Amino acid sequence: MLRLPRLDYLRPRSIEEATELAAQNPGSMFIAGGTDLVPNLKRRQFDVSTLISLNALPNGRRIEGDAQRGITIGAGTTLDELAHHDLLDGPFRALAQACGSVSTPQVRFMGTLGGNLLVEGRRHLPGRPKLAALLGSVLVRQRTGDARAWR
Ligand SMILES: Cc1cc2nc3c(=O)[nH]c(=O)nc-3n(C[C@H](O)[C@H](O)[C@H](O)COP(=O)(O)OP(=O)(O)OC[C@H]3O[C@@H](n4cnc5c(N)ncnc54)[C@H](O)[C@@H]3O)c2cc1C
Repeated sequence: MLRLPRLDYLRPRSIEEATELAAQNPGSMFIAGGTDLVPNLKRRQFDVSTLISLNALPNGRRIEGDAQRGITIGAGTTLDELAHHDLLDGPFRALAQACGSVSTPQVRFMGTLGGNLLVEGRRHLPGRPKLAALLGSVLVRQRTGDARAWR
């Protein structure tokens, strides 16, 4: 059985604290659902000393807005939540359907939208949904604390 290496585990309560901890710990990685990261850590794919959990961030799992203004989705929202959310049962249905067709229920219950966008070196499988293609823009908080939008 593959085991995780010894790691420090930090659980910040705000985005500011999370980015500060990341800046203070150069050998750290963020972890959300862990569906991609944990197996990679067990295979010693990354040289990581500290995991910074994003699970306690406020508003990390928010889904809000409407069809006119658009929908804002927190990076920590799980794929299963997106697959079943009422707000995505309209013009944004394609995103819900794509999330609902990713892998297995276990991956969808734990895996997050942010993690899907940020998995490292994932080769995309033909015929599988590519969620990033269905998003309008992504707000990124950099380790320096700055925010910027991609389109
Ligand atoms: C068996 C299997 C099948 C899959 N099939 C598909 C598929 O068909 N289509 C598809 O699109 N995807 C697929 N995936 C990918 C899946 O969607 C991702 O594994 C999942 O969404 C990752 O989310 P997570 O929260 O578990 O991320 P984690 O494993 O926790 O993190 C993944 C990476 O993202 C970084 N990260 C996570 N959240 C943030 C954040 N908020 N800010 C900064 N960095 C962050 C982590 O540091 C890490 O590098 C599959 C995965 C598995 C395991």
